[in-house]
Amino acid sequence: MNATVAYQAPLLPTDGGYWANFDEVSKYNVSLNYFERMWLAYYIWINNDILATGIMSFVMHEVVYFGRSLPWIIIDFIPYFNKYKIQNHKIPTVKEQWSCALYVLLSHFTVELPQIWLFHPMAQFFGLETGVPFPSLLKMAYQIAIFFVLEDSWHYWTHRAMHVFPYLYKNIHKIHHYYSAPFGMAAEYASPIEVMILGLGTVGSPILYCAITKDLHILTMYVWIIFRLFQAIDAHSGYEFPWSLHHFLPFWAGAEHHDVHHERFIGNYASSFRWWDYVLDTEAGPEAAKKRRERKLAKAKKAA
Ligand SMILES: [Zn+2]
Ligand SMILES: [Zn+2]
Repeated sequence: MNATVAYQAPLLPTDGGYWANFDEVSKYNVSLNYFERMWLAYYIWINNDILATGIMSFVMHEVVYFGRSLPWIIIDFIPYFNKYKIQNHKIPTVKEQWSCALYVLLSHFTVELPQIWLFHPMAQFFGLETGVPFPSLLKMAYQIAIFFVLEDSWHYWTHRAMHVFPYLYKNIHKIHHYYSAPFGMAAEYASPIEVMILGLGTVGSPILYCAITKDLHILTMYVWIIFRLFQAIDAHSGYEFPWSLHHFLPFWAGAEHHDVHHERFIGNYASSFRWWDYVLDTEAGPEAAKKRRERKLAKAKKAA
């Protein structure tokens, strides 16, 4: 751990499990808040930073991924919500949900686990802070906002490329389009290569930011990844509500945006925001097509 941060830690973990370490840490670090002491005690207790970060990252990913998917699975079984389902004639079957869950789990254990294990050495190489105290909420908020913008741009161009080049579509992206009416858990139903390419936007954005500014805490990165997982799972949920976020933030993409992409295979390539598709005229759906036709017609009239 970084030696310059303001805390005192025993050099070796105390016997008696995690909470004994927590008590020990609490004795000497009254200035740290409860979560900071929990964090510090965890790293001391595991006594191996690579392992500690690896376990935390993997468990966090699984808990957030399946935890966030669960409400959508439940909602699929409740007829009341059917009126909010975008493609409401296509409710995923139990069999579809299971085969998707198994595929995603298999991919997490075989493809993502080793990558997550490399995370701590890589984070250290680029100077990510792992100690305590934590950064302020304000700093975390603006850094995460930057990552959202960076990731969205990366996603737009790589995702669009996977649709534009038939070779990439056939060999990589086709798997993700197996479900034409997506559901929450289908967010990471994708080829391992795609997981790596698109994952680079999620992990690479904060790494790039840290390489330039030398000011990023791994906790901020975790919170960012949690938000990004929420975004991806919700975008695949298949549900559009009157209270969906894009009604309040018009540039937010949400499920309505990505569902059309799965239904029509063309357009709406961005992940979190609508601006790339809007500016570059790649919006999908009948309304966008109508606008495009009208623009063409107006142009033709002008030329005549
Ligand atoms: Zn696609
Ligand atoms: Zn998708």
